[in-house]
Amino acid sequence: MRILVTGGAGFIGSHLIDSLMSQEHEVICLDNFYTGTKRNILKWIGHPYFELIRHDITEPIRLEVDQIYHLACPASPVHYQYNPVKTVKTNVIGTLHMLGLAKRVKARFLLASTSEVYGDPDVHPQTEDYRGNVNPIGLRACYDEGKRVAETLSFDYHRQNGVDIRVARIFNTYGPRMLENDGRVVSNFIVQALQGIPLTVYGDGSQTRSFCYVSDLVEGLMGLMNGDRIGPVNLGNPGEYTILELAEKIQQMVNPDTDIVFKPLPQDDPKQRQPDITQAKTYLGWEPTIALQDGLKITIGDFRERMMEENSN
Ligand code: NAD
Ligand code: UDP
Repeated sequence: MRILVTGGAGFIGSHLIDSLMSQEHEVICLDNFYTGTKRNILKWIGHPYFELIRHDITEPIRLEVDQIYHLACPASPVHYQYNPVKTVKTNVIGTLHMLGLAKRVKARFLLASTSEVYGDPDVHPQTEDYRGNVNPIGLRACYDEGKRVAETLSFDYHRQNGVDIRVARIFNTYGPRMLENDGRVVSNFIVQALQGIPLTVYGDGSQTRSFCYVSDLVEGLMGLMNGDRIGPVNLGNPGEYTILELAEKIQQMVNPDTDIVFKPLPQDDPKQRQPDITQAKTYLGWEPTIALQDGLKITIGDFRERMMEENSN
């Protein structure tokens, strides 16, 4: 199959491309390199089945493909809040263009949506039928509401134009290749611990998240794409930790001498988050297999290697 991955030079996209290439698909990676890097896909450049296109999805593009994994969108609050209007454009105009492409060439289209559609949830754990608690005028809205519209567009293209869609609601995912300056909690804590500077816990650290290792997530995305279930389907690891527990875990694993400091909690920061993955288990036969401890070990190793490489340059 010829498969388009938008946002393919990013963290999740590049791991997805590794899996698709290993299955001998033809892969087109489309990215504007806002938060993605060529380094993530370097090993495929020059491969006869791989094509890289530098393109911003807020502009239309014509391609012939069989499947579209639509991941293009900055995922870290630091990056999506840097230019919030652009984040809305990427989610709305960009998704519109990709759905238009799917309609024209009759490609199956998978949207990488997010647990952020549930906002600061008052249902716990979150099931797919929960409609969420999002502040439409807050700092996170460009991303949360952007993804909600992206879901709406996907379902309307499906109902109105028969586009074959799949919608994944991805929960916090971590692993090798996250950017050092990504701003998300796992990368921040690992980089801080490796540098021997205090780990910055926002608020009192009692807010919770559930962390899924990237290889598990990629399997879930491919299972959803190639199955019959339209979704939305939650994809995440139900193992739930407070942010303080995560800080202590990484502190112990990397450098027990580092301190933990407390910083102000950002606006609208969700208090708790845990996926109910009954649907993914039932309809995709999917559930995560990598425990947090094991995934963190690999991720810490990757950061250590990259930071040593940088220091020696
Ligand atoms: P990432 O920032 O590493 O990757 C996003 C990629 O999209 C980058 O390569 C970036 O350069 C590209 N991009 C951004 N705007 C673009 C545009 N206008 N045109 C073309 N390319 C553009 O993030 P990620 O963690 O790999 O996330 C991938 C997708 O998964 C995103 O859609 C995100 O919303 C979703 N998601 C991720 C998580 C997570 O925990 N990582 C959780 C929920 C949802
Ligand atoms: N967080 C933190 N310290 C950091 C970065 C993040 O305590 O250096 C907290 C953040 O306030 C949130 C949680 O960790 O409660 C997860 O943040 P992240 O940005 O990784 O993801 P999201 O909030 O989008 O789930």
